[in-house]
Amino acid sequence: VGVAALVVRQRMKNSSRWARAMAILKEFEDKCATPEGKLRQVADAMTVEMHAGLASEGGSKLKMLISYVDSLPTGNEEGVFYALDLGGTNFRVLRVQLGGKTGGIVQQEFAEVSIPPALMSGTSDALFDYIVEKLASFVAEEEQRFQQPPDRQKELGFTFSFPVMQTSLNTGTIIGWTKGFSISDAVGQDVVAELTKALKRKGVEMRVAALVNDTIGTLAGGRYSNKDVCIAVILGTGTNAAYVERAQAIPKWHGPLPQSGEMVINMEWGNFRSSHLPLTEYDQTLDVESLNPGDQIFEKLTSGMYLGEILRRVLLKMAQEASLFGDTVPPKLRSASILRTPDMSAMHHDSSSDLRVVASTLKDVFEIPNTSLKTRRVVVELCNIIATRGARLAAAGIFGVLKKMGRDTLREGGGKTAIAMDGGLYEHYTKYRECLEKTLTELLGKETAATIVVEHANDGSGIGAALLAASNSHYRGGEAA
Ligand code: BGC
Ligand code: MG
Repeated sequence: VGVAALVVRQRMKNSSRWARAMAILKEFEDKCATPEGKLRQVADAMTVEMHAGLASEGGSKLKMLISYVDSLPTGNEEGVFYALDLGGTNFRVLRVQLGGKTGGIVQQEFAEVSIPPALMSGTSDALFDYIVEKLASFVAEEEQRFQQPPDRQKELGFTFSFPVMQTSLNTGTIIGWTKGFSISDAVGQDVVAELTKALKRKGVEMRVAALVNDTIGTLAGGRYSNKDVCIAVILGTGTNAAYVERAQAIPKWHGPLPQSGEMVINMEWGNFRSSHLPLTEYDQTLDVESLNPGDQIFEKLTSGMYLGEILRRVLLKMAQEASLFGDTVPPKLRSASILRTPDMSAMHHDSSSDLRVVASTLKDVFEIPNTSLKTRRVVVELCNIIATRGARLAAAGIFGVLKKMGRDTLREGGGKTAIAMDGGLYEHYTKYRECLEKTLTELLGKETAATIVVEHANDGSGIGAALLAASNSHYRGGEAA
C-alpha cells in the first residue's frame, strides 16, 4: 500500500474514533440532563421522603435524624470550650472563648491535622487514640500560651460528620460510615463512649458535652451570627443538610415537647435516592465498586469525593472505545479515585486559550504526555456536564427543604431565610457554586429568591459544636438547653 493510502486510512480511522468519542459525550450529556421540570420532581421527592423519614424510624432512605438540639445559640454563651471536628480527610481541634451577651467570640484558635489513610479503615481504638493524642498536644500548647491552670474542668463539643443515631445531645451510636471511612468495629458503638475511653487511655481530662453532625454545628454557628439561619448545607467531601423542624411535625419523636417547640433534624440527605435522579452507567459502576454500595446515591452525584471519579470513568470509557488518548489506554486512567475533584475544578476553570491547565493536569495525574486542543475541550465539556448536574441537583435538594418548611414562597411580613453553607466544594469550586445559586433562583423565582440568603459559614461546624457544648455545660452554667 502506498503512503498516500496509509494516510487516508489513518484519517478515516481518526475520524471514526472521533465520531465515537462525540457519541459517548453526547449520550453522557443527555443522561445527565437536569431540565427544570426534572429538578422540580427531585425536590418534590425530597419533600415526600422528608415526611416519610420523620414519620417513623426507617420510614425512608432519608434518615431524618433527631439531633436533640432544640434550641440554637442565643449569643449568651460564655466560657472557654474546645471542639473536635472529624469528618473528612482532615480533622480540626479548636479552642473557642465565648464572651457572653456582648462579647461574641473573644478568641479562637485551631489546629488542623490530616488523618492517615490507614486509620480510615482500621479499628475504632486506633482512630480515637490518634485523635486524642493530637487533641492532647493542642490543649497543652494552648494552656501554656494562655497560662491557664491545667486542672480546670474542660468541656468539648464533638463534631462527628457521619450518620449517628443520637440518644441524647451527647450520646449516639454510629449507624455506618461514609466518605471513604470504613471502621467496622465502630458501627453500633456509642461515639462519645469511644472518644471518652480514648481520653481515659491517654489521661486527658475532658467532658464531651455535645455530639453534633457538621450540618448541626454549621447551623448553630450560622445562627449565632445571623438570626435568620434555619438551614445548613454541607457540600464538601460528602454532602448533607440540617434544618429546624417543628417538634409537632415529627411523629417519630416520642420525647417531651421541647419548650422551643422546635427540633433540629440532621437529614442525612446524601442517602437520598429517587427514580428521578439522572443516573448513568458510570454512576452505577462507581456505586457498585464503592465502599458503601447502594448507599449515599445523592452524595455520589453531587459531592467532592465523587465528581472527579465520575470524570475519570467517562475518560476511561472514551480511551477504551474511542482511543481518545491514542492507540493504548493510559494505564493510570484505570486507577480509581486518582483524579481528585480539585483537579477537575482546575481543569474546568482553565481560561487559557490553549487549555494549558487541562494539558498539565492530564499529564500529572494520568501521565498522558500530549493531548490535542480538541481533546482538552472534550475534557472541559465533561467537567461542565458533571459539575452542572451535581450543582443543579444540590439546588433541587435545597428547594425541597424550603418547600417542606413552607419557605419556598414569599413570607408574610417579609421575613428572610438564611442558609449556612460550608464545605470545600462550595467554597472552592466557583462554577459549581455559581450554578447552584443560579439554579436556586430559577426554582424559587426572582422575587422569592431575593428573600433567601445563602451565606458561607466558614468552618462554622467546629464553632457551632463549641457553642452547643456551652449550652450543655455542666461546669459553667452556660445557657440552659
Ligand atoms: C455524612 C454526613 C455529613 C456529610 C457532610 C456525609 O457523608 O453521612 O453525616 O454531614 O457527609 O460532611
Ligand atoms: Mg471550610
